[in-house]
Order: sequence, then structure tokens, then C-alpha cells
Amino acid sequence: MTPYDAPSAQATASEQPLLDAFARRVSYLRVSVTDRCDLRCVYCMAERMVFLPKAEVLTLEELDRVASVFIGLGVKKLRLTGGEPLVRKGFMGLVRGLSRHLQTGDLRELTLTTNGTRLAQHAAELADLGVQRINVSLDTLKPDLFRQLTRGGDLAQVLAGLAVARAAGISLKINTVALARDNAAEIPALIQWAHGEGMDLTLIETMPMGEIEADRTDQYLSLKTVRDDLASYWTLEELPFSTGGPARYVRIKETGGRLGLITPLSHNFCEACNRVRLTCTGTLHTCLGQDDATDLRAVMRGGGSDADLAVSIRAAILGKPKGHDFQIGGAPSVARHMSTTGG
Ligand code: SAM
Ligand code: SF4
Repeated sequence: MTPYDAPSAQATASEQPLLDAFARRVSYLRVSVTDRCDLRCVYCMAERMVFLPKAEVLTLEELDRVASVFIGLGVKKLRLTGGEPLVRKGFMGLVRGLSRHLQTGDLRELTLTTNGTRLAQHAAELADLGVQRINVSLDTLKPDLFRQLTRGGDLAQVLAGLAVARAAGISLKINTVALARDNAAEIPALIQWAHGEGMDLTLIETMPMGEIEADRTDQYLSLKTVRDDLASYWTLEELPFSTGGPARYVRIKETGGRLGLITPLSHNFCEACNRVRLTCTGTLHTCLGQDDATDLRAVMRGGGSDADLAVSIRAAILGKPKGHDFQIGGAPSVARHMSTTGG
């Protein structure tokens, strides 16, 4: 018996792929398992962040159930994120439960995005459960700046986590938010370090999500500018590689590594979008940059069956917006925080 007597993916399977009204096939689900975090990154959270009441957050059983219904509908890649997924109590049990779908082949990839502070404790078990790749967010290699940007984080913990994960055979990708004031000058060094350690690195533009007590305009750095700067001393070779997401990839000839560029503000990436997001409260968002929402928690807590969940999911995906229209500066374009939605 699987944990929580959870449904198998087959229970809700259907021959029909999950298609939206623009014939985009949804095969990738990101789930935020908690809005809580042990860090307070300046662009992500307010310093005195008010977290959700526990009763509003999906239980581990509900998370397993809804993810399994998505897998039954043809989702092949599942990313667990947050907040910080590794601070959620019972998180490893959730991964253990969901890994059954890797064993059956219904799920191709189970992965997570983490700040890395607790990776050293959990990486070996994650690898045992079939997690082969992990994204770790890291914006600087300077301990003091790291402490400042994360409002109290310890860089050494993250570096130790990376080392343990690598030793466990997990492929690592670094996510770096490009910040005009704080790390712009360090970006080439970060890329060299990551590539030297055999890790890809993806740069992310700051996105206007959630109130953070500051204006993001002064930290916004266009990746077009960064790319032009890098291209003035490195050879950037376009790669056709795509994950169906917002990242575009280049290989840097001199370092031999891959660089991803996520440019939600300066480049439109919606035509090939294959993903949807579930918040930790069970709200399904079919577009990161729009306020469309479907409450799957209400279906579950209202006594709905897995088939009812599947109907709600299909209807939401049919309504997936064609694209987003973020604007930097002023009020956030989207009121919810990335930590609730799951980055
Ligand atoms: N705590 C984990 C972490 O930091 O990797 C997972 C959740 S975090 C919300 C996921 C990603 O979102 C991180 O790479 C973080 O840098 C990014 N992020 C958070 N707020 C953002 C914002 N306003 N704009 C762009 N990226 C953001
Ligand atoms: Fe926490 Fe990740 Fe947000 Fe930083 S980016 S505050 S680590 S959720």
C-alpha cells in the first residue's frame, strides 16, 4: 500500500491529453508545498512576512492526491517548490510517496527547487528516491552579501548542501536572480564558478510578484543588457534546447557550460508554455503572470472525487490565458508572492 492510501495515477487516467484552447499540451506541474521559508530574500518576501494559517495549506495527503490526479492526466514532470520545500514537516514522506509514480513510469521526472540550506541533510535520501536533478537558488558567493540578500542566511550551509548533492550523483542547476545594484558585477564570476563545478546556471529577471516593502524598479536588470555584456568577451552559442518554459539557453564556449536566461519582462515566452502551478493552498494558476485561479482545495474538502478533481483541472487548463503582461515598477502586477505560487 502506498502512503496515505493515495490514488494510483491510472485511477484518473484518460486518453485525452491535457490541452488548452491554444493547443498547448500541459505536461509540467509545479507545486508549492509551503509558503514558509527559513530565509527572507529581499526580492521575494517582506522582512516580517505574515504566513498563511496552517489550516489553509494543503495537507501532505491532499498534496499527494492532487499531484497524483495531475499525473493521471498526463503530467510527466513534477517540481516541488515553495517557500522552502525542505522546511515543510513530512516533506521527505511526500517525496517518498510521489516517487511511486517514477517507479511505474507514469512520471518521468520528480524534482525540486530549494534554497539549499537543508540539502546536506536530505540529498542522499532524495537521490535514493529517484530525484536526479535539483535547482538551487543562489545570488552571490560573497558571504556578507548573501546574508544581506537573504536577511540572515549562511552561505556555507548552501555550499555544503551542493557538495553533498553532487556526491550523491544529483545534477545541479543554479538559479540566480539578476539584481542591478547587488550582484550585476558578480554575474560573470558566478557563471565561471558554476560551470567550473559542472553546474548549469540560469539567470532570472526580477518579477513583480507580491508586496515586498520596496520598489523593485531600482533592482531590475534587463538580461538583454547582461547578455550583451557577456557577449563582449565570451562566445555565446545559441542552443535549441528548450524545457517548454521561459528560459532560453546558450553555451558559453570559453567555460563549456550552459547558461539559461529567463526574461519574462523583456521577452515573451508564452507560445510554448507547457506548465501550470498549484499554490500551497490548492489554487491552480495556469499562468504565472495572470490572476486566473481554480480552487482545487474546495473540490477536495467539499468531498469531491478524483474524477471531480480531473474535471476541474481540465476546465482550468482550457481557460489557460494566451500570455502575461508583467510591468516593472509601481504596484505588483500580480498580488500573490512567488513563495505562495511556487517559483
Ligand atoms: N525557496 C526555494 C528557492 O529559493 O529556490 C524555492 C522557492 S523560490 C520562490 C523559487 C525561485 O523564485 C528562486 O529561484 C527565487 O530566486 C525566485 N524568485 C522569488 N521571488 C522572485 C521575484 N520576485 N522575481 C524573480 N524571481 C523570484
Ligand atoms: Fe525563501 Fe526561496 Fe523566497 Fe528566498 S526565494 S525567501 S529562499 S522562498
